[in-house]
Amino acid sequence: MLNEILKDVSDYIAWELEEGAVTVEASPDILAALSLPTTGSAASTPSAVPKPEPTGSTPFVEQKKTPATPSPPAIPPALKTLAAEISACTRCGLYTGRTNTVPGQGNPQPEILFVGEAPGKDEDEQGLAFVGRAGQLLTKMIEAMGFAREDVFIANINKCRPPDNRKPSREEMDTCLPFLKRQIAILKPKVIIAMGATAVEGLVPLPEGETISKVRGQWLQFEGIPLMPTYHPAYLLRNPAMKRPVWEDLKTVLGFLGRPVPPVKTTEG
Ligand code: SF4
Repeated sequence: MLNEILKDVSDYIAWELEEGAVTVEASPDILAALSLPTTGSAASTPSAVPKPEPTGSTPFVEQKKTPATPSPPAIPPALKTLAAEISACTRCGLYTGRTNTVPGQGNPQPEILFVGEAPGKDEDEQGLAFVGRAGQLLTKMIEAMGFAREDVFIANINKCRPPDNRKPSREEMDTCLPFLKRQIAILKPKVIIAMGATAVEGLVPLPEGETISKVRGQWLQFEGIPLMPTYHPAYLLRNPAMKRPVWEDLKTVLGFLGRPVPPVKTTEG
């Protein structure tokens, strides 16, 4: 159990630092578990956190390698053309701060399209979606479902990094959304998994008073495609207990796709 907590804290701190954070906040629960004072913000570095031993007691741990899947289909020209168009886009102010555009990547004929809100620091530097700590957790989520990362497509609503990793504004999301709609028209996913409140609200404006915690796990629709709202992997790094409800959401998606739920070690120590 302690190893589990330490690993989650280590993952979270490393993720925050990768995202450019100078100080890192931790919840009282985590601080209590670590026997640290609960007042003020905790500034730390990865080396300040004891290196946890490997453990396999929660969802989204390293999975056994799934059987080799066939090579993914070639990227269709329409998707390449769209990526080139995105790379030249100046439709909203986010273009001024980007290093690279991040159109998204993956299987061009996916069963599942994962959608987040916008690129972070690592994504901006590499031009790839979900490659930082949150992306590593997303990979574990995908593998827990019995897929390889290459089997799915991963994208964001906004293709450029907002300054200081702030949330994209409604206007910025609406300006960029046509790109995602065109991607979806090409990809034709069977299911969209929207990760985090911003992504969900960017795709499906929620009624007044509805929150991600209320709608997660319940089917919505985007452009006629079933959409499963769930928490963002970055949120899971800060709130590891929420991995369980997310796993329930992912199992619901597997059921919809007619796929078996792979065995996962889920017992907390
Ligand atoms: S975020 Fe989207 S709309 Fe804004 S500049 Fe980048 S690609 Fe264009």
